[in-house]
Amino acid sequence: MVHANLLLARLPTAARDRLDRRLEPVDLLRGQVLQRAEEPTRFAYFPTSGLVSLLALTAEGPTLELASVGHDGVVGVPVILQTSRTPYQAVVQISGAARRLRADLLTAELGDSPALRDACLRYASQSLREVGQSTVCHHFHPLSERLCRWLLSASDRVHSDTLALTHENLAQVLGVPRTAVSMAAGDLQRAEAIRCRRGSIVIVNRRRLEVSACSCYAADREDFRLTPPPGDTRVLPSVRPIP
Ligand SMILES: [Zn+2]
Repeated sequence: MVHANLLLARLPTAARDRLDRRLEPVDLLRGQVLQRAEEPTRFAYFPTSGLVSLLALTAEGPTLELASVGHDGVVGVPVILQTSRTPYQAVVQISGAARRLRADLLTAELGDSPALRDACLRYASQSLREVGQSTVCHHFHPLSERLCRWLLSASDRVHSDTLALTHENLAQVLGVPRTAVSMAAGDLQRAEAIRCRRGSIVIVNRRRLEVSACSCYAADREDFRLTPPPGDTRVLPSVRPIP
């Protein structure tokens, strides 16, 4: 179980202690909407476990994940960039916990703490790169490879090979019908790479998923430098070299 938010954990002690007094612990429940699209941002969330999807909405109904946020980041990049509204919907994909801060307090802290400002701006830059990578992935890479990439990246972020997810959740992030996800997941299950249970997916052969994932997974690993938090001795798995 991961208890630390890496963005906060890497702050100098004085900056972290200053924030600690203002952060409020909250649970993150699957399906919970942390931020509605185009509405004013009330809170920034620093997850300590679980996974949050930043979803682009369409008038027709289907959604597509632009980026995800785990214990390595913050849901609240629009606050960091001083925009009053959020252009996407932030939805909890895998339950966990977070520490949250009112948007106006984060704005004030960003003005007072250069260390926090630098860390948040670095994260905002990484998040924008992830949005760009997701756009490329959605346009150029087949669903089967995108599904492998998403499962691996999600597993890295929550530090578990068991993901409490349904095919409906995967359809929501991958921007495809649930039936298409079920077919792709069925292929992976027959290849003994994953095992689908009621309400969860278990990665049983990570290497098989790695060789089936698109090259975006290696880019994810490089961009986000998913290093384990203090105290977590799990070694991240090897990544398929980019040809
Ligand atoms: Zn891709």
